[in-house]
Amino acid sequence: MALDPKTVAHFQEVLNQERLEVTEALSSLVSSRNAEGGYDSNFADISQVTAEKGETDALVQPLKETLAEIDDALGRIADGSYGLCLKCGTEISEERLEAVPKTKYCTPCASKMR
Ligand SMILES: [Zn+2]
Repeated sequence: MALDPKTVAHFQEVLNQERLEVTEALSSLVSSRNAEGGYDSNFADISQVTAEKGETDALVQPLKETLAEIDDALGRIADGSYGLCLKCGTEISEERLEAVPKTKYCTPCASKMR
């Protein structure tokens, strides 16, 4: 039995909300980097600027990955394959989707990959 449209709509809403939050977090990270990382910032210690840039990248990268996963999940909602495990094709339990709406794998497959 596939997920009913109401349930899918619910997760779509959750994912859109999560996407918004991640997008905002990303843009605030990027804009703070642009504000602080300018070359004309009064003889800024270049090694410190580089270190801060590295720290920002370390924060940006996982957010970008999360964003990609959310987009993937939204794409699966659009093509009707949302809620099915990408590995074994089994339906992912609603409890798991509720906990991790962007998940691609059912619990058994996800635990095997760990
Ligand atoms: Zn599976």
